[in-house]
Amino acid sequence: MAIELSYLIAMQYKLRPYQQQAVNATVEHFKKTDESAVIVLPTGSGKSLVISELARIARHNILVLAHVKELVEQNHAKYQSYGLEASIFSAGLAQKDNQHQVTFGSVQSVAPNLKKFTQHYSLVIIDECHRVGMIDDNKDSQNQYQQIISHLKSNNPNLKVLGLTATPYRMGSGWVYQYHYHGYSRGETQSVFKHCIFEMPLSLMIKQGFLTKPTLIDAAIAHYDFGSLSAQKNGEYNSNEVNSLLTQYPRVTQAICQQVIELSAQRQGVMIFAATTKHAREIMGYLSDHDCAMILGSTPNQERDDIINDFKHKRIKYLVNVAVLTTGFDAPHVDFIALLRPTQSVSLFQQIVGRGLRLSDNKQDCLVIDYAGSGFDLYRPEVGSAKPNSDSVPVMVPCPLCQFGNTFWGKTDQDGLIIEHYGRRCAGVELDDDDKHQQCDYRFRFKECGQCGQENDIAARNCNACGHAIIDPDQLLKKALSLKDAMVLRCSGMSVEADSKVSTKLKITYFDEDGAQVSESFNMAVNGAKHAFNQQFGKRAVQGTLPTIFDSAAQIIAQQQQLTAPDFVIARKQKHYWQIKEKIFDYQGNYRKANQLG
Ligand SMILES: [Zn+2]
Ligand SMILES: [Zn+2]
Repeated sequence: MAIELSYLIAMQYKLRPYQQQAVNATVEHFKKTDESAVIVLPTGSGKSLVISELARIARHNILVLAHVKELVEQNHAKYQSYGLEASIFSAGLAQKDNQHQVTFGSVQSVAPNLKKFTQHYSLVIIDECHRVGMIDDNKDSQNQYQQIISHLKSNNPNLKVLGLTATPYRMGSGWVYQYHYHGYSRGETQSVFKHCIFEMPLSLMIKQGFLTKPTLIDAAIAHYDFGSLSAQKNGEYNSNEVNSLLTQYPRVTQAICQQVIELSAQRQGVMIFAATTKHAREIMGYLSDHDCAMILGSTPNQERDDIINDFKHKRIKYLVNVAVLTTGFDAPHVDFIALLRPTQSVSLFQQIVGRGLRLSDNKQDCLVIDYAGSGFDLYRPEVGSAKPNSDSVPVMVPCPLCQFGNTFWGKTDQDGLIIEHYGRRCAGVELDDDDKHQQCDYRFRFKECGQCGQENDIAARNCNACGHAIIDPDQLLKKALSLKDAMVLRCSGMSVEADSKVSTKLKITYFDEDGAQVSESFNMAVNGAKHAFNQQFGKRAVQGTLPTIFDSAAQIIAQQQQLTAPDFVIARKQKHYWQIKEKIFDYQGNYRKANQLG
């Protein structure tokens, strides 16, 4: 009878198609391999239902980890609603039990009590798994996930590890996985998880009606320009710098708040994201006292819970916060998001906007206004690196070797044609003979090893093939600048012409910003010179997107628009002329390049 009842309750939950796909992808993946995996599902996609289903169909012990007690409780409650029993291991919930086949635990409670986990576990599911590798966490919690995994592995070497997250990319810590099932890799460093096996894009969730449609409008009135600020390594901004920048906008904040009030007349709940604590207090001053509240990182827990409760019950309309309500906060009625802070990545932008996309009664859309004008597009893919400058846009650059379509930051002209891209290495992935994933070797920009000729990343210090130290361009420049008989040309352009006497010979002249120039020749009839030209220029044709082996001077002159100029040219004085000793391409370092503000 009890079994029948639980069956009936379970039947009430029918997984949405993408949830079922995520479950199927997990089962398929772990049938093939024990390598760790990640499922990417946006906020509001019902992750806990996917976890419950996986726990329900598992035949052995499984452990579901989360970093806060609220998530442990939520995931457990969802599982119980299937009519199934599970243990809770969380000091915050005053339970430390792992007797059932399925245990929901908080990482902080499980890690110090590993001796109680002597059973054979077949699967660990980690919710909000981007936290596993987060570097800005305090050291203890950073290692707790790893401690738990290695302990469980000592009981079962074939332990499977699955992570779930809405934000697989984080500024500062990078991508949480290495290979995506669509056939590309992310990042060259060792990511915490090996494979992304399923991803549901936010845009598809909206299109299929599982999330509310956002209405993004441009701020009609004055807005902030945070473009001059540069983010710290972890992607955050220095609040003193932000505050001093905001003092340049004495009336802007007030005008923005007035507009927010006007536009929210018919709205149910408004979330305002402020840039700093001081900024948040200023914003509060422009809203009516009885209708708004503010949550800061320093707000005591009880007060914070009370405020959130008031907001959820619509006793207050405006909720102002500084970076604290980007995750784990859920008020479905929110139908207006006002960003008055800079955002550093598409992921963070999506995460913030996601706060307003849950379905709710009497909610047709969610108004989104980015008063910081970050220019992020909700539907654009995450590029995976900081936006190089304010006019950069994601561009699609196909790999000449494997044809994979890379997404890099770049610049386009008015017709959307790519003028420039900042990509370095192709992210395409192919399976090798042993069915192992291999990232494509093609590099759009590279530093060549002086020892073996291998192409390396432009920031590499040692060759990835022979280990030999790669000459640091800053050292080269520093040394040349200290020499009397050396010239360093900050190259702003070059011209290519046929030699006046020898038709197979090519003359290239490099110019700096002030008109200084230096030239060199390549006789394409001589194999050595032809090879050198192609090594330097052929490989880099059209910014590495169209590598070409040039045959003749005539061909080069005809296609000279395709050549990529070096950033610096170093020449040494000979008796009667300057001889080019070194050309630095794809420069990245401390010296200013031509046409680049200092
Ligand atoms: Zn490729
Ligand atoms: Zn080498």
